[in-house]
Amino acid sequence: MKRKEFLQRSLFGAAAVAAATAPIELLSSCAPKNKTELKLSFQEGTAPGKSLNEKFDYMENLGIVGFEPGGRNLAARVEEIQSALKGRNIKVSAICAGFSGFILAEDPEVKAQFDSTMRDIIAAAGAIGSTGVIMVPAFNGQKPCKPHTFETREYLCEQMHELGEYALKHNTTVILEPLNRRECHYLRLVGDAAAICRDSKSAGVKCMGDFWHMQEETSDYAAFLAAGPEYLQHVHVASRGRRIMPGEDGEKDNYVDGFRALKQMNYPYYVSFECGTKGEREQTVPAAVELLRAQWELV
Ligand code: MG
Repeated sequence: MKRKEFLQRSLFGAAAVAAATAPIELLSSCAPKNKTELKLSFQEGTAPGKSLNEKFDYMENLGIVGFEPGGRNLAARVEEIQSALKGRNIKVSAICAGFSGFILAEDPEVKAQFDSTMRDIIAAAGAIGSTGVIMVPAFNGQKPCKPHTFETREYLCEQMHELGEYALKHNTTVILEPLNRRECHYLRLVGDAAAICRDSKSAGVKCMGDFWHMQEETSDYAAFLAAGPEYLQHVHVASRGRRIMPGEDGEKDNYVDGFRALKQMNYPYYVSFECGTKGEREQTVPAAVELLRAQWELV
């Protein structure tokens, strides 16, 4: 399918959903248009290019204003990232995980690995101005893991409190990411992640939504609003059939319902690409950017 054709097809489906779900006042031409900006961000592998500078040049040409590096070895990359960002209209949107161990590990050694590597990443994230560091409490494959009980949730909230306070000292946050049940049984819904943020009692504990994993949700709109401006700190985006570039899965790639919530809460953070592509990156990446901007304008 040609790029223009799939853009039109995806937009047709999105417009129908927008019309069906938008409040009447939003559809009226007299209503003031919500001016919340769509701030798009790329992970390191998204843009074509061999070096960070080549990737950033490409991103600037497309108007991409956020960069989401992986957290592994981040402390050693602080200067490299700072100098590549110098003088550019791109900021670090978030850090994608990269720690060893996991927070719900039963094995004290594995938990200790998490504590030390996560704190190193948080300190580096603060140094490069990131909004936060993304983390998952436990992937399905990470064992032995604390059982899914009331006591474990209390333990998680206490641990998150400590991490959140540590992050605040470094001018950043920790961001809980719910995943779908194939990857993480423990935390699957944005509203559940937001409740953990609330119960952690630290302004340094935030959460995010990932349009790919949000297949678990009954409504993208309700999921984002459940977190609301107090807790929603980051968003991931991918196509909704195969986790490739938005638009590559045609009419499935509808983000209008979620965008409506983000606009309503004047969401100030980033929507960051976390996906591969089946096509030629030079074509699918700009097409995806165009599609998301067009859907953003529909609400
Ligand atoms: Mg994600």
